[in-house]
Amino acid sequence: MTGRSTTLGRRQFLAGSLLLPMAFGSVRASAKAAAHVVIVGGGFAGATAARHLARWSPETRISLVLGRDRYWTCPFSNLAVIGERSLSSLEVRRDRLATDNITVVPLAARDFDPLRRTLRLEDDRQLTFDRLVLAPGIDVMPEAIEGHGPDAVDTFPHAWQAGPATDHLARRLRAVPDGGLVILSVPEGPYRCPPGPYERASLMAWWLARHRPRTKLIILDANTSFTKDNLFRAHWQDAHPQRLSWRGRDDDGQLRRVDAARGSVHTDFEDYRPDLACIIPPQRAGAIARVAGLDGGRGWCSVDPRTFASTVHPNVHVIGDAAIANPMPKSAFAAASQARICAAAIAAEFSGRRPPEALLTNTCYSLLTPETAIAVTGSYRGTSEGVETLPGTAGTSPLEAPASLREAEAGHARGWYASARAEAFGE
Ligand SMILES: Cc1cc2nc3c(=O)[nH]c(=O)nc-3n(C[C@H](O)[C@H](O)[C@H](O)COP(=O)(O)OP(=O)(O)OC[C@H]3O[C@@H](n4cnc5c(N)ncnc54)[C@H](O)[C@@H]3O)c2cc1C
Repeated sequence: MTGRSTTLGRRQFLAGSLLLPMAFGSVRASAKAAAHVVIVGGGFAGATAARHLARWSPETRISLVLGRDRYWTCPFSNLAVIGERSLSSLEVRRDRLATDNITVVPLAARDFDPLRRTLRLEDDRQLTFDRLVLAPGIDVMPEAIEGHGPDAVDTFPHAWQAGPATDHLARRLRAVPDGGLVILSVPEGPYRCPPGPYERASLMAWWLARHRPRTKLIILDANTSFTKDNLFRAHWQDAHPQRLSWRGRDDDGQLRRVDAARGSVHTDFEDYRPDLACIIPPQRAGAIARVAGLDGGRGWCSVDPRTFASTVHPNVHVIGDAAIANPMPKSAFAAASQARICAAAIAAEFSGRRPPEALLTNTCYSLLTPETAIAVTGSYRGTSEGVETLPGTAGTSPLEAPASLREAEAGHARGWYASARAEAFGE
């Protein structure tokens, strides 16, 4: 993964030297003429796929279309919300992604034509591809909540896409007075990072205990249960019995409406006027993964989990949060695992081999405090029927555990985070 850096500069781009149309034809035939794979999205899924494909299929040309936006990791961003980590420590430098066979395209993809195998960039130029891999993550839908919308996101911050919004939420938390009220609202699944809201609630409660000890935190949840809920609840009962309460859908926990002008939040039976309402909106696959009917109108993309090829357009693969891969959660860990399988399947097909068995894995760590964590883990196999959990692999941290085990799990979380960034971004 070393060698000359290749980033598509403006002049090269205008000259079109890297954008000569490729001959259409079968993948095998075009492989001989250096197949071209276009990957959209340079987050955990897209970057991991690009780097593995470059390694396993060195003759393949890869264009990694990652937009102009800077990228901050969501993992560990809840620590930034409580001021225990800087936003800059979450920012990923993506300048190491360009190599001899990876061309980084610092523009957003606008749409694509799966039959003509062309992808249009934001400035209307086109890339032709043999295979397209879409890894755009999520779009949030605040407008799905009555009274909410993009203009009200600063009033009801969610920071579910890390970045400056994370710092904004951190400032809003610091502005909450002692004796105040914080609301954290969780949308109905599926959404990015199933344990993420409860990790955030745990860390916010930890911060409130130290800095605003009389402030209450209420979780309004559109779901009736959640991942690792026995572990989270036991911790909350132990550490924050009077501070943190959870209301599920069956207990008037479903958010019905907000009023941005008043800053109020409404369920069926309660009207809240919180000092801070962190409203995590419903979500769907990033827009580019909803082009050409790829999401079947459901918001998320159905794939063959043996290769992560779309079930709608087999020349297009979808990985990471945008794909449906239940029971795998939408996590960075899962996204990287899917990226490896997708890259291996494409590399195998280009060289006329069968794709390897699709063995997938995930572990989601959740911080309870800055120094303690719990985890849920599972291994999976992609089959023609979908993703199946391998017997005996699904589990969580034990309910009863000494502090030393929770501290060790926080250490594992930090280790995973460092290695995931190294694998995806070459840091
Ligand atoms: C608070 C929080 C905590 C989390 N903690 C963890 C954790 O501890 N462990 C874990 O495993 N997961 C965690 N996650 C989940 C994790 O962040 C996501 O699952 C992961 O980022 C998904 O990777 P992705 O590549 O699919 O999407 P992303 O990481 O969002 O990357 C997608 C990229 O594609 C870009 N893009 C979108 N559309 C286009 C386009 N048209 N053209 C070009 N580029 C485009 C986006 O700008 C973005 O840079 C957490 C999430 C949150 C919100």
